[in-house]
Amino acid sequence: MIQAVADTVIGHADELTELDRAIGDADHGVNLERGFKAVLAKIDAISAQPIHDALSEVGRTLILSVGGASGPLYGKLFATIGQHLCGPGELGKERVVGACEQAIGVLKALGRSDVGHKTMLDVLVPSLDQLRATEGPVSLHALRLHAHEAALATIPMIARRGRASFLGERSRGHMDPGARSSELIVGAVCDYLEARL
Ligand code: ADP
Ligand code: MG
Repeated sequence: MIQAVADTVIGHADELTELDRAIGDADHGVNLERGFKAVLAKIDAISAQPIHDALSEVGRTLILSVGGASGPLYGKLFATIGQHLCGPGELGKERVVGACEQAIGVLKALGRSDVGHKTMLDVLVPSLDQLRATEGPVSLHALRLHAHEAALATIPMIARRGRASFLGERSRGHMDPGARSSELIVGAVCDYLEARL
């Protein structure tokens, strides 16, 4: 799954950089490509570990290798999910939702950001809400669609955090690059699971 996420993000690096060119400094794709290539360079060692240690290692690698705001934010997100997946008993939806809630809380605190600020949180939070609200088997199709719509919904927003916030009103009319990378990450996880369920 980690490899699928890395491949997807790397495959869309140019698109992410172009989105960041419009309202940032044209490096979001470059940043994430560097980070996820560093993850792929140690994918064998990562995949030999239990999921919580694997995700913590992904997080550490992103924090160390990505320049820019997104490195520490995504790094902390993955590392915190890993930390909270740990524990006895079944690794089911409840544990995954709980781990994502913790991780999003840490991301909000680190970025002093919240929903509506035109950031990656505008995809991560609604995606988690969708997952939490689903009763019975999770519809991966619905989750993927929800993440896509959430990324589109950042287009009319005015950025309140990150470099795009320097543009004020002029940040309107462009999709947030971090929202798009989060959509790609959610989508890659859905694709991976769909192919195996
Ligand atoms: P930088 O802005 O340092 O060049 P990137 O271009 O890699 O870093 O990442 C930009 C993305 O990071 C934005 O599109 C936004 O989604 C996200 N981001 C920036 N600042 C914050 C923040 N304070 N909280 C949450 N997300 C943020
Ligand atoms: Mg940037």
